[in-house]
Amino acid sequence: MRLILMGPPGAGKGTQATRIAERYGIPAISTGDIFRSNVAAGTPLGVAAKTYMDSGEYVPNNITDAMVRDRLAERDCGRGFLLDGYPRTLDQVKELDTMLTDLGVHLDGVLLLAVDAEELIQRLIRRATMEGRPDDTEAVIRRRQEVYQEQTASLALEYNARSLLAEINGTGHVDHVTDRIHTVIARLRR
Ligand code: AMP
Repeated sequence: MRLILMGPPGAGKGTQATRIAERYGIPAISTGDIFRSNVAAGTPLGVAAKTYMDSGEYVPNNITDAMVRDRLAERDCGRGFLLDGYPRTLDQVKELDTMLTDLGVHLDGVLLLAVDAEELIQRLIRRATMEGRPDDTEAVIRRRQEVYQEQTASLALEYNARSLLAEINGTGHVDHVTDRIHTVIARLRR
């Protein structure tokens, strides 16, 4: 299975990605997590990404694309993967197309987790109190939603035009959202 999990910040992508990955035995690749561990370790990649992340902007495509290309070339992606948080721009969509062509594989589906805008902001403010992520201040939370609307929301149209998109209701109990996702994936596999 080669899947993309899309959705606005706070939609629950991280939690659901981990669950799907475990169930299907594929790695969940979160570009946000890779950036955060590089920031924590103080690597050159982390230093390059940090100012963008802290202000809620996207890290430049050339940095992000190279990182994903390296990750997809790793052995554990041979059986498939779930991308969480990539692609986020139309240029990244094109770049991913090239990477997949080079690997001789194709996407099976793009799952879009849909959650109402005001609920997202409330969830993220709660998470900020619990986890203390530096990009979780209210101003940055609002900016991240704007950036998603400006640069990422339209990717759903692109994947829909390719008949790859499945929209999933991301509200309600996390377990119910997971069940909805599994139903969609089961349909993709038939
Ligand atoms: P996330 O944990 O997915 O919300 O990502 C946290 C932050 O990492 C984002 O706000 C961006 O600054 C950066 N980031 C993650 N994925 C990407 C991407 N595909 N393109 C550009 N920046 C990204």
